[in-house]
Amino acid sequence: VRPDGALVDTPAPGIYLYPGHVETVVHGLGQALTTLLGTDLQRSLRTPPVIARSIIERAGYHESFPHLLGRVTTQAGSGMPAESDLVLLPAGCYCVYPLYADTRLTSATELSVEATCFRQEGSAEMGRLRSFRMREFVWIGPGEQCLSWRDRCLSAVRGWLTDLGLTTETAVASDPFFGAGSRLIRQLQIEQGLKIEILATVGKGQIQAVASGNYHKDQFGRLFAIFDHTGNITHSACLAFGYERLVLALIHRHGDDPNRWPGRVRDMLRLGALA
Ligand code: 5GP
Ligand code: ZN
Repeated sequence: VRPDGALVDTPAPGIYLYPGHVETVVHGLGQALTTLLGTDLQRSLRTPPVIARSIIERAGYHESFPHLLGRVTTQAGSGMPAESDLVLLPAGCYCVYPLYADTRLTSATELSVEATCFRQEGSAEMGRLRSFRMREFVWIGPGEQCLSWRDRCLSAVRGWLTDLGLTTETAVASDPFFGAGSRLIRQLQIEQGLKIEILATVGKGQIQAVASGNYHKDQFGRLFAIFDHTGNITHSACLAFGYERLVLALIHRHGDDPNRWPGRVRDMLRLGALA
């Protein structure tokens, strides 16, 4: 069995089916993340796999990542293929900003989003899926609070992953929210530490980001005209988890049968009594 044999292959690279035991673990991860980070949420939302194209255009994703964006085309009445008003959702938090567009928040706002995402990835190495599920926690508020929220969460998450038996590292990455940019801009982003990834081994010799914490500064506040309680353009941050990568990391560490995982890990993920 390949280490990623936990996911069932389909004819399309990077597209998998998920067997029952994987879903049980995904469900357990979702609940555990809510316990860990979701105690003070204003809203908790599940997204469909598509989003209004106008939102993605307002966020500038179509310009920064045209090669990753999946567009929806249908045959209109004329018989000619026509682009619809929808695109495939590339990340959970894009659904959140329009909820607050053109408003002034009375206090900092924290939300959870569970999303099915699509990115037209060029490679299909282990853990790199084109359709994958993302859990995000999003914080919208003044800048210094965004940063301390993100860093507090990242350290809680590392502790949680250690308790789950995973060995992790963190790495500063350049932030895709700001576009591909020039080498200089990317370098600046890295120096500012806007995007921090938590890396784990998801398969033999394969290390991937299982989570990432992003500080967007006022990028989305500006693009969606969201103001904080002081009347300034708001800042935002998000913490994103890849469910499939977390499952692959756990399987790589503890074996492909969750029934045989250590009791502590089973308890943390509420996997129930051994069958
Ligand atoms: P980001 O928006 O930071 O690129 O991605 C957020 C999280 O989604 C990542 O930390 C990772 O766990 C997950 N993710 C991103 N790209 C992929 C991918 O191609 N495949 C899978 N399985 N997960 C991904
Ligand atoms: Zn996000």
